Amino acid sequence: LEPTPLITTDAVVIGAGPVGLFQVFELGLLGLQAHVVDSLPAPGGQCIELYPDKPIYDIPGTPVCSGRELVARLLQQMAPFKAGMHLGQQVNQVQLQNDGGFHVETSAGTRFSTRTVFIAAGVGSFQPRRLPLEGLSAFEGTQVFYQNPPALVTLGQHVVVVGQGEAALACAVHLAPTAHVTLMHRREEFKATPATVAQVQQLRQQNQLQFVAGQATGFMQTQGQLTALQVSLSDGATRELPATVLVVLSGLSPKLGPVADWGLALERKQLVVNTETFETSTPGIFAVGDVNTYPGKKKLILCGFHEAALAAFGAAARINPEEPVTLQYTTTSTRLHQRLGVVVES
Ligand SMILES: Cc1cc2nc3c(=O)[nH]c(=O)nc-3n(C[C@H](O)[C@H](O)[C@H](O)COP(=O)(O)OP(=O)(O)OC[C@H]3O[C@@H](n4cnc5c(N)ncnc54)[C@H](O)[C@@H]3O)c2cc1C
Repeated sequence: LEPTPLITTDAVVIGAGPVGLFQVFELGLLGLQAHVVDSLPAPGGQCIELYPDKPIYDIPGTPVCSGRELVARLLQQMAPFKAGMHLGQQVNQVQLQNDGGFHVETSAGTRFSTRTVFIAAGVGSFQPRRLPLEGLSAFEGTQVFYQNPPALVTLGQHVVVVGQGEAALACAVHLAPTAHVTLMHRREEFKATPATVAQVQQLRQQNQLQFVAGQATGFMQTQGQLTALQVSLSDGATRELPATVLVVLSGLSPKLGPVADWGLALERKQLVVNTETFETSTPGIFAVGDVNTYPGKKKLILCGFHEAALAAFGAAARINPEEPVTLQYTTTSTRLHQRLGVVVES
């Protein structure tokens, strides 16, 4: 495979949570170009993954908005700066180069040569919760999926969908007409919209879908093909469940993962920063939002926004040491208006 072309930029922002997105905006105001990477397929971090429809009441100037609305507004606000968005990929490598810049590489092979790195990794990179069965990973991508599987793979197969949330139930409903589908969760307790739960119940009554309350304890294979799951049922019995395709949609869990391996000073799994520039123990690498720690740290979105502003000034001073960064107001600065692409009547 040809390596992807190297992307040269001022800043790579690791994490597209609310703070990572606002970081792009603050960098843009100072004329710095950014690329954002997130392991999730959509931006928004915890706001989208954990509470998209819950109201937030403590964003300054916004008496109430949902997690989803906040993220939509942050995306709109940063749009003028045309940041590169690299979603569905995890940053695995950050290496200091001889020229003081950094080489950054993702799980998808995207490579950056960047002057600065902003770690806005929150509680870590969100990963699908995997079934802890030894050897099962050998079937990932062919018979075992942690996302909706390709349609052709499931046709006429014995599909076991593991999970209790909207994604799992919707997947089971979607596959029921074309496959033998079993929905499985520890307990018969669903956390999905009433409409999807009703569809599941209707399909069960019509024998187009079965539900099993239990947990997988092992699996069977024949000639390198997954054939069945061993299941411990909630009533204590065990059962062998035919499974030629396994779809696990049991939610996401955050992993600090590679961030902890980049040789940066950590305190209780958080990156230690100075509160002048929010730089970590490695000059040129900044940490903002939930991932950092300093005396008095509060894991709030508004605190992350403040950190992002100061970190952007820190980066600007590092990138252009001969050009002092002056504070300008978005209200009155024509240079900022140009960067924002707005026309303001004088
Ligand atoms: C239920 C709930 C309610 C909340 N309510 C409020 C509230 O009302 N007000 C408030 O201020 N705060 C609230 N918070 C806290 C708030 O959501 C967090 O402070 C905020 O999300 C932190 O933003 P962040 O951008 O630092 O990190 P996150 O939102 O955690 O985003 C980090 C992103 O980085 C990505 N990432 C991590 N590592 C990597 C990697 N190596 N490669 C690629 N991507 C990576 C992750 O996938 C993730 O998307 C709430 C939190 C929860 C759970």
